[in-house]
Amino acid sequence: MIDVIVIGGGPAGMMAAGTAGEKGLSVTLLERNNKLGKKLYITGKGRCNVTNAADIEEHLKNTPGNPYFMYSSLYAMDSLGLIDFFENLGVKLKVERGERVFPVSEKASDIVRALARYLEKNNVDVRLNTGVSEIVCDENKVIGVATDDGEIIKAHSVVVATGGLSYPMTGSTGDGYKFAKNVGHKITKLYPSIVPLKTSESWVLELQGLSLKNIAIDLKINNKSEYKDFGEMIFTHFGISGPVALSASRYAIGKFHLRPTLSIDLKPALDEKELDKRILRDFQKYINKDFRNSLDDLLPQKLIPVIIDLSGIDPYTKVHEIKKEDRKKLVDAIKNLTVTLTDTTGYNEAVITSGGVSVNEIDSSTMESKLVSGLYFAGEVLDVDAYTGGFNLQIAFSTGFLAGEKVMGCSDDSN
Ligand code: FAD
Repeated sequence: MIDVIVIGGGPAGMMAAGTAGEKGLSVTLLERNNKLGKKLYITGKGRCNVTNAADIEEHLKNTPGNPYFMYSSLYAMDSLGLIDFFENLGVKLKVERGERVFPVSEKASDIVRALARYLEKNNVDVRLNTGVSEIVCDENKVIGVATDDGEIIKAHSVVVATGGLSYPMTGSTGDGYKFAKNVGHKITKLYPSIVPLKTSESWVLELQGLSLKNIAIDLKINNKSEYKDFGEMIFTHFGISGPVALSASRYAIGKFHLRPTLSIDLKPALDEKELDKRILRDFQKYINKDFRNSLDDLLPQKLIPVIIDLSGIDPYTKVHEIKKEDRKKLVDAIKNLTVTLTDTTGYNEAVITSGGVSVNEIDSSTMESKLVSGLYFAGEVLDVDAYTGGFNLQIAFSTGFLAGEKVMGCSDDSN
């Protein structure tokens, strides 16, 4: 009988399998795709933001979904440990803005290849094109798995590292949730997260393709500010996307019935007074023009008709006729360009799944199920999720490492 079966050849599964192999256990890794790490290849736009160089406290702050569950696994392998791990496997890494860590080669494939080498070095039997359909248990002890072909493979322990539901074409189709549920685990509500957002305003369509840099956003629910950010975003045919919109999505999921709003400050470097002064200067320059022809220096072309409309000022008014009260409305439209968020674009475009196997039923110091002995979970299948910046891959690697360290083999029973 094999010591350990790992289901899923993503970052969590590869780390768990290699680590268990390094301990001398016999390990078989089952992956349904014809290659390992299919999702890893597309991480960080193909560059793989493999972790974040910040300390553990910062990782926990960036983990809105059950941060405290991550204590033991982050202490077992933090970002510095992970950086060492890859450098020892021959991958040189570099730290970019926001402490984001990437391979110097800027190739996610180098990360996948390094993990494949790690598996080989530790004699992990990798079986590609092998989907698992079921976990086999005898009462409350795992005894193996059934594959899609009907084969039963027996093992002392099983690690479920099947990922979530996001980007299903990479192989992550939520099977781990079914496996866990079938053996009695609770699955918390699942949401696509770090995901583009749909909006209700018709003018958004006119802005399709417009990308904004150096803007500030304020996500409000029931008029209460829930999330503020600064950076880049883009208008799409359905709503908004880009870094700040993706990050904001984590706060809106599950709350769309409350009609969250996201207000965009197009000129965050200027307060209202300074912006008014700036507008006055432009008005001086275009004093005899129509209002609609006076904003070229201030705003991107695509935005001008929208802002004019939202300001409520007649576009054909002569600039010298515009009063202070009207300028106030213009300032407000520029500093509070507000969209109403109606939904996400779903799992096909979500970076991660929020929710998963309830962490209350998993021992955070071993990753073992508290309900089924010999069954372990690692990675996105767990109800743990983080913001962008390398934090999600660190979760996958840390939980995978801890599961690999703690998982037991056949000979452990005699201890
Ligand atoms: P996955 O990577 O999803 O791997 C699960 C594996 O299990 C898959 O290979 C799947 O085929 C296999 N599997 C599933 N079911 C079965 C079954 N029944 N039988 C056999 N095999 C099965 N995070 C970052 O930190 N930095 C980034 O730069 C980053 N960029 C991203 C970009 C995109 C476009 C996406 C979608 C995500 C990104 N993420 C990033 C998130 C990160 O990729 C995930 O958090 C991480 O891959 C989760 O790892 P995992 O091993 O738990 O699951």
